[in-house]
Amino acid sequence: DPGLTLDYAADLDSQQHAAATAGDGVTLVVAGAGTGKTRTLVYRVAYLVETGVPPEQIVLLTFTRRAASEMLTRAAGLLDGRCERVRGGTFHAYCLELLRRHSERIGYPQRFGVLDAADAADVVDLARTRLGLDRLPKRFPKKRTLLAMFSAATNRGLELDEVLAEEYPQYAEHLDLIERLRGAYAETKRRTGVMDFDDLLALALELLRENPDVRRQVAGRIRHVLVDEYQDVNLLQADLVEQFQSVHGNAMMVGDDAQSIYRFRGADVGHILEVQKRYNGARVLKLEHNYRSTQPILDLANRVLDEAVEKYDKRLFTDREGGDLPALVAAPDDDMEARFVAQVVLDKREAGTDLNRMAVLFRSGWCSYALEAELNRRKIPFVKFGGLKLTEAAHVKDVVAHLRVAENPADAVAWNRALRLVEGVGPTTAGRLLDWIGAAATGGGPAAAVQMLRQSVDEVVPSASVAASVGRLVEALTPLRDDDMPPEEQVERLLGYYRPVFERVYADDFPKREADLDAVVALAARHRSRTALLESLALDPLDWTQEPAEGARKDEPPLVLSTIHSAKGLEFDTVFLIHALDGVLPSAYALASSDEEDEERRLLYVALTRAETELYASYPLVQYRRGTGQYLTEPSRFLSGLPESLLEPWSLVEEATPPASGDALPEADRPALPRSSGGA
Ligand code: ATP
Ligand code: MG
Repeated sequence: DPGLTLDYAADLDSQQHAAATAGDGVTLVVAGAGTGKTRTLVYRVAYLVETGVPPEQIVLLTFTRRAASEMLTRAAGLLDGRCERVRGGTFHAYCLELLRRHSERIGYPQRFGVLDAADAADVVDLARTRLGLDRLPKRFPKKRTLLAMFSAATNRGLELDEVLAEEYPQYAEHLDLIERLRGAYAETKRRTGVMDFDDLLALALELLRENPDVRRQVAGRIRHVLVDEYQDVNLLQADLVEQFQSVHGNAMMVGDDAQSIYRFRGADVGHILEVQKRYNGARVLKLEHNYRSTQPILDLANRVLDEAVEKYDKRLFTDREGGDLPALVAAPDDDMEARFVAQVVLDKREAGTDLNRMAVLFRSGWCSYALEAELNRRKIPFVKFGGLKLTEAAHVKDVVAHLRVAENPADAVAWNRALRLVEGVGPTTAGRLLDWIGAAATGGGPAAAVQMLRQSVDEVVPSASVAASVGRLVEALTPLRDDDMPPEEQVERLLGYYRPVFERVYADDFPKREADLDAVVALAARHRSRTALLESLALDPLDWTQEPAEGARKDEPPLVLSTIHSAKGLEFDTVFLIHALDGVLPSAYALASSDEEDEERRLLYVALTRAETELYASYPLVQYRRGTGQYLTEPSRFLSGLPESLLEPWSLVEEATPPASGDALPEADRPALPRSSGGA
C-alpha cells in the first residue's frame, strides 16, 4: 500500500501479513513457538496506528509489563513515538486501573490496597477470628489450601462444592465451614479496603457486567484489543477480553496451545480452542514457519511434544541451514554442572556472543543456587528472573506495611504487621489497638486513624515503655499523611524509624537485607506517588536483580538466569537448561496425573524453543540435600532415551577432579567442549 510508511508485505510472510493488516473483527492466530506471533502483534500495533486508530484506544495485554513495554518500544522503533501511547500491560494492571477509576461502583474506597499471597493468608486469619473460630476441626485445610480453593472457584467460575468434589475430595465434609470462611474472607477484604489478585479480575468483570454505562464507556474507548500468549488466559480473562471488545468488536488474540503452562493458576487452554465458538465469524490464521531456531533444536522440541498424551497438530520447521545437535550433559554434581555452564559462557563471550544473548533456564528458583555462587566467583554479571521476589522478603514487607497504613488506614493486615514490630506489642495488644484504629479509620481516614492510635495507647497499653514505643510509630506515620511528599522521601523517613526495628528483629544476612531496603528506596524514586509505588510493588514484584559481583564490568548487559515460566516469549542465542532432572522437570508432584505430566512436558517445550543456535540440557548425577546428604538422580524422563541423532550425550564425569580453589579451572580440569573448538 503506497499510503503506508512500513512495507508490511516485505517484512512479514504472507500469513503474518494477513494477520497484521487484517480488517475489523475478531482474529485468532494459533501457531507454534518462534513463528512470529509476537512480531506480528508488534506490526499490528504499527499498522493500526498508521491507519489512523488513536493509540490511546488500542489495548495490548501480555503476560508481564516488561513484555508489553518491549513490544511497544519495538513498534515505536518501526513506526514512530505514537506507538508508545498504546495502552499496554498485564490483565491485572489494566483491571486495577479500571477499578480505581470506578471503585465507588463496587463499594470500595478509591485507595484500596492489593494483597499478595502472604497478606491474603493473614486476612484468612482475620476472617477466622471474625467468625469466632478458635478451634478448627481435625484435618481441616491449611490457609494456603483454603486460598487455593477460593482461587480455583473464582478463576474457573465454579461453585466451591464443585472445586472440592473435583480437586479436594478429602475436605468435602468441611464444605459448610469452608463456605463460611470464604464469605468472611470476602467481607473482611471489603471492610479493610483490600483486594487479592483474583479480585482484580473478578471485580473488574463484575464492574463491567453489572454497570452497562461503565461497560459502554470503557469498551467504547477500546477500538482494538490485542492479546499475546492467549493460551494462558483463564475464564475471567477470556470473559474480560469479550467485554473489552463488546462495543467495537475488534480483537486479536495470538497464542500456542502447546505452550500452555499456567494450568495451576486456572489457565485453560480450552479458551484458545473455543474462540470461534465465543466469537461468531472469527478469523483463524495459522503461522507455520519458525524463524527462531535451527532445525536440530526444532527436531528435539517436536519430538518432546510428539510424546505428549494430548496431541498437538503442529511441527516446527525452519529454512535455516545446519546447526549443532543439542547436548545432554551429565555432570558429577551441582558444582560441576555450574562450572560447566560458567565455562561455556566465558568461552562464548570470548568468541563474541554478548552475555545477555545467553540464558540459563530452570524449573524452580533454587536450581540455580550453585550456579549463582560460581558466577559470583568468576565475576560474571547476571540477572535472575522469577525467583524469590523482592517484595516477598520479610523486611521489605515490613516497610511496605507502613506505607500501606498511610495509604489506606482501614488496612488491618498492614496495621497488624506494623504494630507487631513495636517492641513489647503482642497479639492481644495489637488486636485491641486494631479495634480502636479500625473504627476511626472507617469514619475519618488516615489522620483520624493515627490520631486514634495516639489516644488509644494509654487505654490499651499497660506499660509506659511499650506506650513510648508505640508513640515512636505514631511519630513515624504522622508525616506520611502528607500525600504530596515524594515517595522516595516517604521511604527514607520511614527507614529512619524502621532501621532500629530491623536491627532488633533480624539478626542474620544483613548486607543482603540492607541492599533490599536500598532497592525499595531506588524503586520509590522512580514513582510519582505513593499509590503508584504501592501498585508497582504489588503487581510487578520486581524481578529481583542480583548485583554484579565486585570487579565485574558493570556496564556489561548481564547473563540471564530465569525460571522457565518467566522466560516465556523470550529468545536467546544460547540456552542452558540446568537441573534437567526427573523429579524436578517433571516435578515429583506432577507425576501423579497424566494431565500434569503433560503440563511439565509443555514447560520443557517452552524451554527448548527459547534457543536460537545452541542448546545444552544438563543435570547433576548426584544431589546434596541438607540433613540427608547425597543421593543419586536420574535425568528427566522427557530427555533420557532419545536417539543420539536428536540429543548428543556428553559426560563430564571423567574430568571430575575438583580444583582446590574455586577460581579459574586449571586447564586439565576443563570439561571437554567439543563445540567451542571448531564445531561438531
Ligand atoms: P513464542 O511462541 O516463543 O512467543 P513467537 O511466535 O511470538 O514465539 P516471535 O518471538 O514473534 O515468535 O518471533 C521469533 C523470532 O523470529 C524473532 O526473532 C522474530 O523477529 C523472527 N521473525 C518472525 N517472523 C519473521 C519474518 N517474517 N522474517 C524474519 N524474522 C522473523
Ligand atoms: Mg511470542
